[in-house]
Amino acid sequence: MTGKIQMKTPLVEMDGDEMTRVIWKMIKDKLIIPFIDLKTEYYDLGLEKRDETDDSITREAAFAIKKYGVGVKCATITPNSQRVSEYNLKQMWKSPNGTIRSILDGTVFREPILVKNIKPYVRTWEEPIIIARHAYGDVYSAVEIQADEPGTAVMTFTGASGRKIEKKIIDFDGGGVLQAMHNTDSSIESFAHSCFRYALEKKKDLWFATKDTISKTYDHRFKDIFMEIWEKEYMIPFKEAKIEFFYTLIDDVVARVISGRGGMIWACKNYDGDVMSDLVARAFGSLAMMTSVLVSPDGHYEYEAAHGTVTRHYYKHLKGEKTSTNAMATIFAWTGALKKRGEIDGIHELVDFAETLEKCSIGTIEDGIMTGDLASLCEEEGTRTVFAEEFLDEISIRVKNQLKGL
Ligand code: NAP
Ligand code: MG
Repeated sequence: MTGKIQMKTPLVEMDGDEMTRVIWKMIKDKLIIPFIDLKTEYYDLGLEKRDETDDSITREAAFAIKKYGVGVKCATITPNSQRVSEYNLKQMWKSPNGTIRSILDGTVFREPILVKNIKPYVRTWEEPIIIARHAYGDVYSAVEIQADEPGTAVMTFTGASGRKIEKKIIDFDGGGVLQAMHNTDSSIESFAHSCFRYALEKKKDLWFATKDTISKTYDHRFKDIFMEIWEKEYMIPFKEAKIEFFYTLIDDVVARVISGRGGMIWACKNYDGDVMSDLVARAFGSLAMMTSVLVSPDGHYEYEAAHGTVTRHYYKHLKGEKTSTNAMATIFAWTGALKKRGEIDGIHELVDFAETLEKCSIGTIEDGIMTGDLASLCEEEGTRTVFAEEFLDEISIRVKNQLKGL
């Protein structure tokens, strides 16, 4: 390679908190900047800066992703009351991911990074399972009542026209609990489009499941919307790409996933996605190997690691101790974003470089050099457990050799 790779359009770079902020800088210094004339528009989403700007920095970053199309984000603290006192915050700011998601209106796709020397717990899994989680509504924005005496529960919808639909839920003899959930056609439509587009882009089958046999109106609406959109816009492109769309029931799909070989995108309603993404991440190995990308229905992308800021390691780091924090998912957030930027701008060197970096990162682990989280899962003999920095140095050596053609 002669000079550094040039970029046309900046990436929206969103810095974060704690240990991942430390790792973020190391990745840039060791694996990106030596090879790429990196162009980014930088947003500091670290908690201090969010507090200082009354969180406007998060919204600005989200709008920048809308403008440029591709962003890469470091993990950030979602404050709770303990963080409010730890950082002396003006208020308990909302989750940055939630804010960005609501501005981009996207779907989150989570994909594990596979390495040969760490076997998934499920023997038959050979390819990654990508979870697509609908990140709006259902139980996450449900309205709940605890009835503390006998009484009648009724659900009412009052239309803008004044028309009323009323249904009795139950006559309680004693106390009980009630929950009302909702979703919107437009959010389900966005979810469907994001899933179909991502399946085409990845050339992978799309599976979707609900419980429409029991939930004959609510879940059935999800099924109908997916089917209508698929038939109208995606049936032919799917056929051309030789991929399938498969709809079934949620209990049927879990059984199929466990006995299958993986390799599909599994679209999940909000709650199913919450639960299944942790199950799939753990079953493939480590949370530190789970990548995440938010894809908006109009084709904007935000890449990040699925894990948090690894607070326990950060406190060790502050005491001057070295930590064996795994940088893989954060590296893959960078490579995902660089690849996408390269594809959009037609810079094939950028795409090639991102692929080389991914191969060398996987290669380092497959050579037996890995952080503690993985070493504890690896059954092969002769592995070397390394600190975060040493792991990145090993990757860097491999990238340099690869580019020299060694
Ligand atoms: P976490 O940061 O994901 O860490 C939980 C545990 O998982 C760690 O203590 C560590 O286990 C292991 N782990 C996670 N990532 C690892 C890595 N890269 N390398 C090695 N081990 C790793 O979750 P958390 O402790 O619940 O949350 C910490 C903060 O992150 C919170 O403030 C939360 O708000 C935030 N968070 C942000 C995001 C996001 O920005 N997307 C997502 C989730 C959480 P051991 O301690 O056993 O080594
Ligand atoms: Mg969860």
